[in-house]
Amino acid sequence: MTVIGLDDTDSRTLGMCTTYLATLVAEAIEAHGGRIERMLLIRLNPAVEHKTRGNAALAIHTDFPAGQAFDLARAELERWAVIDDERTSPGVVVAPGSADTVPTNVTQFARDAVRDFHTTDDAVETASRSGFLTQGWHGGRGQIGALAAIGAWAAFDTWTYEHISYREFHRCGTPREVDIDSVFESADAGYPTAWDTVDHGEGEAVCVPNAPGPILHGIRGDDPDVVRDVAEHIDAEPVDREATFLTNQGTDMHLQPGDIADLRDGHAYRVTGSVESDPETRRGGHVFFTLSDDDTNLPVAAFEPTKRFRNRVRSLRSGDELTVCGEVTDGTLKLEKFAVRDLVESEETTPTCPECGRTMKSAGRNQGYRCRDCGTSEPGKVETEIERDLELGWYEVPPCARRHIAKPLVRGGFDAATHPER
Ligand code: ATP
Repeated sequence: MTVIGLDDTDSRTLGMCTTYLATLVAEAIEAHGGRIERMLLIRLNPAVEHKTRGNAALAIHTDFPAGQAFDLARAELERWAVIDDERTSPGVVVAPGSADTVPTNVTQFARDAVRDFHTTDDAVETASRSGFLTQGWHGGRGQIGALAAIGAWAAFDTWTYEHISYREFHRCGTPREVDIDSVFESADAGYPTAWDTVDHGEGEAVCVPNAPGPILHGIRGDDPDVVRDVAEHIDAEPVDREATFLTNQGTDMHLQPGDIADLRDGHAYRVTGSVESDPETRRGGHVFFTLSDDDTNLPVAAFEPTKRFRNRVRSLRSGDELTVCGEVTDGTLKLEKFAVRDLVESEETTPTCPECGRTMKSAGRNQGYRCRDCGTSEPGKVETEIERDLELGWYEVPPCARRHIAKPLVRGGFDAATHPER
């Protein structure tokens, strides 16, 4: 057995896509008589600033001999990687042996790559100590993702699927011809096993990217047959090639438990506290509030691209108890989802007169309230019920704003009721 890791071959402006390169390497291996056992599409720490888009890295599991696999992967990479973009920093790592038995420092490297940061030197040293073959181009930062993708199989225990259909290469850069009605019909037929295919609220086909690369559409879900079936029922321009990947997308693997006092930038957390200030909408439509715990405050933001989710956030009130999830950047947590643990359902208000219905007036300091016209009185403020638009349980950003690694509520397994978006 051999495991090939690949990363950092594409460019934000010039296109390509490392999943496409992995598909081409797999085809080259098959053309030379090798067998592909599986391909992994791994999402690493979304806070990494060098990422082109979704911080993806790829692994191919094959029976092809390691030395020959290394040669084939390097040849395909040199042919396809967008090395003209100075930000592209490709890497290949090849591990002889089974993906089930990689050394524990490689599995730990994979876990840390999802929640933390590594250096290229770390990656090269860990790979060499494990007897792996490595090569980097333009600094070779891609060896970080490549090694993490190799360790992922043994490190992670939750897997989802993505079936990617690719365009004919000469069409890349032109508008994609996809019948949107067929996307919605097919997405509805596959839901909820296939998720995040479309966004009904925004009327958007989320599975069709806008980037200049070769992907026509990518269908995500919990079952490989269902995602392939959804893809097959989409009417579109010709599909040149396709591949099904095992992935850690939709798993929330990037989140770690945290306390407000200990959060660090560049990491993503699940944190509990109470709403300290009513939410406010600032310029650009971004919504902010403060969460607090033991007198420590955390600014929390729902940015404009999270669309209708901001209405949920605007419905929060000071005193509500929440668990919030998201990445911390410049000390602010960018909300991906939150759970309402306890809602403030009443407030103290000035009493109204039971006779005339008007608000009573203060009868003087510590003397309660009274209605001068009717002669009625109350000893103090009264508890009034507040109408709330929120219920207990989890709320999430809509599919159009979902991070690749974030777990959609419809996948289940949450510790409270869920209010899924679709
Ligand atoms: P696409 O998803 O479109 O293929 P991308 O968003 O995956 O692109 P890359 O071009 O792969 O972006 O760039 C991400 C870079 O960050 C890679 O070089 C990868 O090795 C590196 N990287 C990934 N995870 C970490 C980490 N935890 N610490 C440091 N560097 C990382």
